[in-house]
Amino acid sequence: MVSRIVVAGGGIAGLSAALLLARQGYAVDLVERDGPPPESLGDIQEWQRPGAPQVRHPHMFLGLFRHLLHTRLPDVHADLLAHGVDEVDNTAPPGAEAPAGATVLASFGSRRATVEWVLHRAVRKQAGIQVHHGLSVREVVADQGRVRGVRVDGEVLEADAVVDATGRRSPLVGAFIKEVEESPCGNVYHSRFYRLMDGVPKPPTFLVPVVFAGGAGFGGGLYAHDNRTFAVVFARLPEDETLGRLRETGAFEAAADAVAQFGPWLQPGSSEPIGDVVPMAGLTNTWRELSPETPDGYLPLGDVLCTTDPILGRGASFALSGAVELSELMGRHKSDLAAVGAGLRAHAEHELRPWYEDGVHDDVERTRSWRATVSGEQEPPAELPLGVLAALAGQQDHRLWELAQLRANLMAAPDSLDTPEVRERLDAVLTSDWEPPVLSPGPTYPELTNALAAYGD
Ligand SMILES: Cc1cc2nc3c(=O)[nH]c(=O)nc-3n(C[C@H](O)[C@H](O)[C@H](O)COP(=O)(O)OP(=O)(O)OC[C@H]3O[C@@H](n4cnc5c(N)ncnc54)[C@H](O)[C@@H]3O)c2cc1C
Repeated sequence: MVSRIVVAGGGIAGLSAALLLARQGYAVDLVERDGPPPESLGDIQEWQRPGAPQVRHPHMFLGLFRHLLHTRLPDVHADLLAHGVDEVDNTAPPGAEAPAGATVLASFGSRRATVEWVLHRAVRKQAGIQVHHGLSVREVVADQGRVRGVRVDGEVLEADAVVDATGRRSPLVGAFIKEVEESPCGNVYHSRFYRLMDGVPKPPTFLVPVVFAGGAGFGGGLYAHDNRTFAVVFARLPEDETLGRLRETGAFEAAADAVAQFGPWLQPGSSEPIGDVVPMAGLTNTWRELSPETPDGYLPLGDVLCTTDPILGRGASFALSGAVELSELMGRHKSDLAAVGAGLRAHAEHELRPWYEDGVHDDVERTRSWRATVSGEQEPPAELPLGVLAALAGQQDHRLWELAQLRANLMAAPDSLDTPEVRERLDAVLTSDWEPPVLSPGPTYPELTNALAAYGD
């Protein structure tokens, strides 16, 4: 019988898995190496999260995340909205009515720490979860092909199953790996958070002129987050030391000033920084395949199994979808932990693997294009990706909009737009007198590097 479960790691996957499992009646020990969040959300910016450094970078939570939160953890979803998170509803194009019964396609931007703060609140209220902060899980203890517990800083915590939610640098998974696929994402992040001054209108959450991306040797955007905060991020090639200066506060601000679209929110009197400029390097697309000898009851989730490029904003959705799947499998298979483990692997293979491959492909293409720009080679005119074109044309043909949004929000497969229906509908729009709106691309690579050079003078 399975009664006691250790959840190692209290990020998105671990917190949501702990909640779902405790609500099914399991006794859960949640072990998190970092300290607890502050009592007050107002102090969230000060929360130290060295175990999950991405907390200091902007996060978009796509439709899949919002859908799973709304349907599986509705109290957490409601609490998030009550604590300053605003959703954007993309079910229908702006100004149009959503058809009756349409799947709600809403998403939101928020500081990761705010989402975790709300999840922690629910965990604290939930009977059956004991949280151990400031402790690191060192090893999974197994015997005769079954998990018996974990070694935590010197002592053994006994358990019938161990959920490994320790993230992309999991210290546990290495013992059970058959094969690892890893490729660099080809970008380094530089981010900074700001708070809007009173009376300044919020930036829209997903607005093309505000978010500029890709194709110009670098990427970036300005993302509205919770409680009148927003984040500015630049992504550059790892080898691009000219843009490496973005790690300096003054250079970062000079670059941000060079993006005219950011002006309304960055001009003096509009906002103030609420943190330092923070880099994040070493980003990889990683896929981990477990060996057949993995003991029953070792249950990896989230970034432990599959890490994808943050630029695509998908990892939190995959972390929550793994936790939801685990909870369903536990409900279905009860004490048959071999079946639960096999089910989790099948879920990863069917639901995550296609997105992992899609991301690896996108990164190869994007890196090639950025390198061509940075080295001054002539670039062929950039074609709009099918998903973007379908979303734009979707303002004319609402079925195209729906299909594009389902894919963009991870609620349809990566190849779901590659169909005769989509091609026919697109052709019909493109051969009408409709012109795609001109996307405002932001500064060119030379304009951005000139802004940095001018700052250094
Ligand atoms: C720069 C950046 C930006 C991103 N932006 C987005 C975005 O916009 N949208 C999106 O969906 N995704 C984004 N992601 C990805 C997303 O953050 C991850 O996919 C997601 O955090 C995975 O959740 P997780 O719970 O598996 O792991 P994590 O969130 O990494 O959580 C792991 C937890 O385990 C703890 N831990 C680690 N080791 C131990 C141990 N030995 N013992 C106990 N605890 C331990 C850590 O402290 C941490 O709390 C981004 C990632 C990066 C790097």
